[in-house]
This record gives sequence, C-alpha cells and structure tokens, in this order.
Amino acid sequence: MNLAMILDMVADGMADRVLIGNKEDGLTGATLRAKASAGAAHVASLGADRLVYLGPNGSGFPVALFAATLAGVPFLPLNYRLGEEQLGEIMSRQTAPLVVTDTPERVPGSRTIGIAEFASLPAVDAAPLQAYEIESESVAVLLMTSGTTAAPKSAVLRHSNLTAYLFGSVEFASVEETDATLVSVPPYHIAAVANCLSNLYAGRRVVYLDVFSPGEWLDVVEKQGITHAMVVPTMLSRIVAELETRGTEGPASLRSVSYGGAKIAAEVIERALQLFPATGFVNAYGLTETASSIAVLGPDDHREAVASEDPAVRARLGSVGRALPSVEIEVHDDEGTVCAPGVVGDIVVRGPQVAGEYLEQGSKVQSDGWFPTRDRGYVDDAGFIFVRGRSDDTIIRGGENIAPAEIEDVLGRHPAVLEAVVAGVPDVEWGQVIGAFVQLRPDAQATEDEVRQWVRERLRGSKTPDRVVFVEEFPTTPTGKVVRRELVALVTQPSAQPA
Ligand code: ATP
Repeated sequence: MNLAMILDMVADGMADRVLIGNKEDGLTGATLRAKASAGAAHVASLGADRLVYLGPNGSGFPVALFAATLAGVPFLPLNYRLGEEQLGEIMSRQTAPLVVTDTPERVPGSRTIGIAEFASLPAVDAAPLQAYEIESESVAVLLMTSGTTAAPKSAVLRHSNLTAYLFGSVEFASVEETDATLVSVPPYHIAAVANCLSNLYAGRRVVYLDVFSPGEWLDVVEKQGITHAMVVPTMLSRIVAELETRGTEGPASLRSVSYGGAKIAAEVIERALQLFPATGFVNAYGLTETASSIAVLGPDDHREAVASEDPAVRARLGSVGRALPSVEIEVHDDEGTVCAPGVVGDIVVRGPQVAGEYLEQGSKVQSDGWFPTRDRGYVDDAGFIFVRGRSDDTIIRGGENIAPAEIEDVLGRHPAVLEAVVAGVPDVEWGQVIGAFVQLRPDAQATEDEVRQWVRERLRGSKTPDRVVFVEEFPTTPTGKVVRRELVALVTQPSAQPA
C-alpha cells in the first residue's frame, strides 16, 4: 500500500465532498487529486528529488504532501520558525529540493515556488506516477525530530509505515458526512501528517488553524461545526484557561479531542473533562519514528478513571493508555527481559508502522524487531502504559542513576508548586547534580530550602535537588515539550532566559 492509493480512494469515493478547508470554499476529493497531480508534474519537470514544505498550516500542506507522493519524492515539511543557522544546516543536507514556501529569501540558492502558486498550477492529464507504480517501501515522508534531547535527525517514514498506521488506527464506525477535524499542530510534526492522512481516509473534512490561539480555536470550532480536534497539552491548557475566563463550557459540537506529543498535567485534563461534558478525550502516545500514535487512552478510559474510587483506576488518567492493535509494546529491563507490571524499564515497540530509521544513522530497530522509544515507563496490571520520562533525561550523579520523574512527582505534590521539571546540571565534582526547576502557583511562595526539605523528607537523601531554580514559565517547543537543555542553561549560563 502507499499514500497514492489512499488519495485515489479519497478522490474516487468522495470526489465532490469538501475535504480540506472551510465548508464554503474548501477542496473536494477530486480537486485535491487534480492539484496534487499538477504539483507532482511540476516537481518531476524540474528533476527535484525532494519536496520541502516551509510554511504554516493550511490547505497547501496536503496538496504538497500528495504532490510529493505522485512525483515519487520524499516530502519534508520544515519548521518555519527555525533560526537561519539551523535552517541553512538542514538545507545544506539536501541535493535537489523544490521548496514550497512563501518566504523564499529564507532558503537562498534553492528552487522555490509560492504555496498558493503550487496549489494552482495548470491541470495535467495524469500525474507522473500512478498508485500501482509506487513501491510501498519507498520513502514517503522525512521529518526532523524535535531535537529536545539531541540535534534534530531526519526520521524516515516509508509508505508502508504510514499506511500501517492508518489501517491500525482509523475507525470508520462513528464517521458522519458532516464531520470535521481542526488541526492546529504545526505542519512539520508527525501529528500534522498523521491527522491529514487519517482524517481524509476516514472521510472527515480537515480544517487548519495556522496560528494557534485559544480564542481563535474556539471561534473556528463554532463557525465550522468542528466535531474532532487534535491539540498538544499546552494548547489544551490554554483552551481550558480561556473557557474558565469566559465562564462557559466547551463547544457542544466537539465529539472528540485528542491530545498528545508531551506529558499533560493531570490537573489540566481533569479541568478539561469538566468543561467539555459532551466531548470524548483521547490521549495519543507516539513518536515521529513510529509514524504517530502507538497507544491511546480512549474516552471511556478517561470517564472510568475520573468516576472511580479505586486509586489504581484513577491513576490511569496519567497513563497513555493501551497499545493500538497494530503494534506490540513492552517494557524491558537492561537485559531485554519483560518487566513485571509496575516495574519501570525501557518502553519498546514493534509492528509495521514502526520505522525507527534515520537518514543520518540508518535503522535503530533491533534484530528482534523491537524499537527502543528511549522512553522509560511501566505497564500496570490491566495493560495501561505509563510514560515516566526519557532515558536521555536520566541524571547520573556521582555514578548513581536518578530518574527525574520520581523527584518531579514529589515536587508536584508540594502545595505551592504548579509544575516542576528536574534535570541534570553539569558539575565538576559529581559529573552531574540534580537541578529542580520549579514554577510556583500564582500567589504561592516557597524558598529553595523548603523545596529541598520537602524532597528530602520523602525520598532518599541522594535524590534531594542540589539546585532549586524558580522559573516564571518553562521553555517549550511549539509542540509543548519542555526543552531541558534551555533550563540547564539558566544555571550554567545564568544570563539565559526561558524562551
Ligand atoms: P528528539 O528525539 O530529537 O528529542 P522528540 O523525540 O522529542 O525529538 P517526537 O518524536 O516528536 O520528537 O517526540 C516523541 C516523544 O514525545 C515520545 O518519545 C515521548 O517522550 C513524548 N510523547 C509523545 N506523546 C506523548 C504522550 N501522549 N504523553 C507523554 N509523552 C508523550
């Protein structure tokens, strides 16, 4: 299977239905294929070997994605907020790209075309490639990882990975013709690719919000009769705060909101469940390298957890749910043996949607098929997966391995603490020491000593933070991941401020 087959199914089955953009003037299935075919012909005529998309969310995104498919070249959406140096570095790795962008001055020396212009090229009789000519193992999409733990790498996603994700996750049973999904995650993130494909495949109109603000998000939901939405935790937290300020409930049209990409604070999801009584929430856990979600905590799981008096069931609100049927997920110890329920180890995943491959480093899938997510976590008795931070974040203090999650949990229970992030700070004597970066609740107060004392009373002495730093807010990526190295820079280079 390949993405051109998905496009054909969509364009043949829903030729006249508006599938991208506003219901008044969006693209139908047939128009999407026609525009993608014209774009593909242009790519082929230039002999380009890659289609780079550098711009915000919008209907130009699916046109460019499918144009790349029909031209047989990888699609590489880039973060349009990247600094000149990083963008230049990534562009220097490309050989013959065509860049679809409205900011051509940012990619000097590359062939470019405007986003609207690319989506309005003269119609062609046929695309350069027909679906049956595209190998399922050819590269469909390249995505730069967020670079929260290391320099960004180009993750390789093959047609087979993305179609396996679609077949394993899309449910048709509940789809109605008037359904529409609001996508506000940035276009260079796996969630944007996955949402575009899965909603089109399901027959749900995809509406893009190019610049997120909670007010705009709520307006579009109302005006466009949005039934489904995908957000990252920071967006959900801002939507919740906006509704609380307005003193209103969330729009009743919303049947489902999925969130993921980073850890969510339990408090945020609890407030969201109250404010959206008619909406089912889905926590989706996945990686770029796994072609999107591999586990989900579904609407019923959320409802059961909040209604339960059993602490083990309530705790599931903090889990990422159970593995999707198309993948296997296990937790392994250092020897590769499966950990007992509740025991923290390395989360590994396998299945056809798992790519686990980078342009620069090749495949990281082990010979037994397992791909190490580099997340630490555990599975409970009922198969619910709990992510407990990334192995790269482990602090090695004088030879002792210390997991930040345990200390973060203890800090999070301090009445004055809104959120805490714990990270290793370089130290001449110990190699690394424990840095606790703490955001206090509005109007709350605590001293460094009180914070240290709080942890010392609850955990072993060696887990007491050596440094406590109070921050106004945490530096995050646009997808809501805390950038720990920027926090550490606050201590190592005291002039640095969170972005
Ligand atoms: P880099 O590897 O360069 O640091 P990245 O791994 O942050 O980049 P992504 O592939 O976007 O790039 O992130 C995947 C990671 O995001 C997962 O391994 C996990 O740590 C985190 N994550 C994703 N979804 C969830 C979720 N629902 N809950 C908690 N964490 C999540």
